[in-house]
Amino acid sequence: MEYLSLTAAQQCILQHTLQLGVETIPLEHALRRVLAEEVYSNRDHPPYDVSAMDGYAVRAADLSCTPSELTVVEDIKAGAMPMMAVLPGQCARIMTGAPIPQGADTVIRVEDTQPVGNECVQILCSALYGTDIRSRGENLRNGELVLGCGTEITPGVLGILAMVKRTEVKVRTRPRVAILSSGDELEGLYAPFDSDKIPDANSYTLMAQVQALGIEPVLLGIAQDDPIELSRYLMRGLAYDVLLISGGTSVGVYDFVRPTIEALGIQMHFWRVAIRPGHPLAFGTTPTTRVFCLPGNPVSSMVCFEQFVLPALRDMMGHTRLFRRTITARISKPMKHRAGRTELIRVTLDADEQGYQATPTGAQGSGVLLSMARAEGLLLIPNECDGLHAGASVTVQLLEGAAYQQHSGIAEGI
Ligand code: AMP
Ligand code: MG
Repeated sequence: MEYLSLTAAQQCILQHTLQLGVETIPLEHALRRVLAEEVYSNRDHPPYDVSAMDGYAVRAADLSCTPSELTVVEDIKAGAMPMMAVLPGQCARIMTGAPIPQGADTVIRVEDTQPVGNECVQILCSALYGTDIRSRGENLRNGELVLGCGTEITPGVLGILAMVKRTEVKVRTRPRVAILSSGDELEGLYAPFDSDKIPDANSYTLMAQVQALGIEPVLLGIAQDDPIELSRYLMRGLAYDVLLISGGTSVGVYDFVRPTIEALGIQMHFWRVAIRPGHPLAFGTTPTTRVFCLPGNPVSSMVCFEQFVLPALRDMMGHTRLFRRTITARISKPMKHRAGRTELIRVTLDADEQGYQATPTGAQGSGVLLSMARAEGLLLIPNECDGLHAGASVTVQLLEGAAYQQHSGIAEGI
């Protein structure tokens, strides 16, 4: 039986991702969605030259001798327009964001001034022409393209959309995802406790992995190892854009997923991938559904989701960055490896002066879900590698949650 490499399997899947539609949604719900339109600025922002500081709007030419004394002609606050022009020897008290009055060309921070009575101020420094003025349109220029199609809506992007007054935005629709577990031994989360059973973890790890991408999946439940029941569940699953099935995909006598899937006419593209954990990984398509058959072992199911399902879902959502970020780390202990398959080791990461050190999270069996629960990343041992020495440089794929750390990481005194 043919084993595809990890990258060949990813490529095959990405060649078959579905193109979904677009929808218009309120701005308030747009976080993490992907823009399906170009967005232009509808105003100059700021609308005129404004002060960047609380201070005094002056004529730089008046400051040739230090200190210099100027007459204060008015107060200008943000949201108000200046009433007076600033003539030689004059200035205006100005607040951050307030418009620069006619005649003034520079702002002096209040810290560099000293009031003299009610009407005058001493400027204690000289200043370059134009200092602390934000020019009109510096943030956004009217008519300018500010966000391209395909932009992921992060908090900052959402702020830009609010600035250009988009109450609604056109975004890519999200794939509808269904999740199915299979196996006679499985006990549902809400089923009575039975110490002889295996609790269904995969429905929930997969649910959470899908949710982490901003998609709310549907759990179809647990199908018994029975071709007729499995077939009924699979048909329900084929009403979705993406169907994730875990368990029963191997070649055991009671692994019915493969024959049932073939009987339903789902076109299978591959059944095996040369990775560990996770090699019984299959991918098939119908005209409207992408079907992933994931291994039953909880770690394998999660690792396969990360490698194969995640990039496909992100692609369907319209993202251009499809893969988890990878970093380079060093390993503290040597690692054995059998060439011919890619291995993904669950690791934690510790930052030091030289970058990151990766340490395995303990026993790496594909049923040891705790090894995944504790992991911050997946260390990749490439398929051609025949072992790694201590200190070797490796690639680590960051997992959900790895964006946070215990310490601020900011080296400065309090
Ligand atoms: P299978 O792929 O069906 O041969 O299952 C491989 C192993 O994964 C078996 O030990 C199963 O009990 C276990 N397994 C299968 N499905 C699940 C699940 N949904 N949750 C937890 N363990 C599972
Ligand atoms: Mg099974």
